[in-house]
Amino acid sequence: MEEARDMLPQEIIRRKRDGEVLSSEEILFFSKGIGDGSISEGQIAAFAMAVYFKGMTLNERVALTEGMRDSGEVLSWPKMDGPIIDKHSTGGVGDNVSLMLGPLVAACGGYVPMISGRGLGHTGGTLDKLDSIPGYQTMPENTQFREVVKGCGVAIIGQTGDLAPADKRFYATRDITATVESIDLITASILSKKLAAGLDALVMDVKTGSGAFMAEYNDALALAQSIVGVANGAGVKTSALVTDMNEPLAGSAGNALEVAEAIRFLRGEGERSRLETVVMSLSAELLVLGGLAEDRDEAKRNLKSALATGKAAEVFSKMVAGLGGPSDLIERSSEYLPVAPIRKEVTAERAGWIQKIDTRELGIAVLELGGGRRRAEDGIDYSVGLSEIVELGQHVEAGEPLAWVHAQSEDALAQAVSRVRGAITLSDEQAAGQPVVYELVSGEKMIPDSE
Ligand code: URA
Repeated sequence: MEEARDMLPQEIIRRKRDGEVLSSEEILFFSKGIGDGSISEGQIAAFAMAVYFKGMTLNERVALTEGMRDSGEVLSWPKMDGPIIDKHSTGGVGDNVSLMLGPLVAACGGYVPMISGRGLGHTGGTLDKLDSIPGYQTMPENTQFREVVKGCGVAIIGQTGDLAPADKRFYATRDITATVESIDLITASILSKKLAAGLDALVMDVKTGSGAFMAEYNDALALAQSIVGVANGAGVKTSALVTDMNEPLAGSAGNALEVAEAIRFLRGEGERSRLETVVMSLSAELLVLGGLAEDRDEAKRNLKSALATGKAAEVFSKMVAGLGGPSDLIERSSEYLPVAPIRKEVTAERAGWIQKIDTRELGIAVLELGGGRRRAEDGIDYSVGLSEIVELGQHVEAGEPLAWVHAQSEDALAQAVSRVRGAITLSDEQAAGQPVVYELVSGEKMIPDSE
């Protein structure tokens, strides 16, 4: 094995630039250097560009992920009486799955230390949604986080500076050097943060379609396969579902509106079958991976019972109260969640079938209403957004609503109405709905590194 002290960053970059396969020691040396600052920003940028063009083998990606994971604190969970499991989504519009999945799988015996992120671009973030709950601490002390996970089975919080700091530095450089769009680097970036939470099993929701980060199906599938291969290679049982984002998943998009919809779901008043399918499919996969159910059928039966008996709702209530929010949020959500002063429908200008939704545009409409950030340091208006958004394949008459806009001002309302109307295409032909789960990429089916 080559000694770390003999390694030169520029030689590692040169080898990758020339398309060579790096050793795990070289990659660990490089990722450690990103984390401790001994490798310069210029060297990180050159390395990222070399990887962008030449790619990495599965073994290289595993080494990069493990190196970045180990650049900071890695949580451990001794003496828990169930598996440590989690879900991650590549993000979309109206994707409030975590708020329901966390309590559901916890109600079925899992422990979910979910470290989630803020909204990115046109996509929403779980952390911003939870920040709409008065008193809820998304950045608690480590001891409180552990107590809530142990006590009720789930805590959804934000990332502390100590988890995978190498990724923070690496991502900041990629962001300004046109090297974000590398499946190898995205894999290591996502997984280094998730695996630092000390997981036994993980399920990934890789979204594809007009509102997704990976809009093209083949890119989403390649990312799902890469993530499943690398996470299993790093010792965490992982599967991925490739799911549809050609329309918002929930009926609403906007922080408090999505929390309210998740609460209705947990109360057994869910309105969207597509949302239910994704929540149940991801949750079932996680119960099987975590050894809490023999197969998906048993898992789904347990999940349905957790919902019907109110156990999942009870877990959600305990989590909210444990992190400083109101203990009766589920029963009295309308008294706690912020409400926008102006609420108006966007009506269809003609009758027809909903043929196409530019979901990214709907995400931008929410952002422009103030529900997302233009710059990282911007504040957010938790009350604004869209609700009762139509679904693909649905028929509307002229004058019927395509969605409701929740706005802070008349100007913002007018802008959102025009954007929403432009994003939704009506057709005279009956349009078919789309499947919501396209593919399961299971860890068992992964072929070992063939490069
Ligand atoms: N999300 C991440 O966390 N990292 C990436 O590289 C891209 C999306």
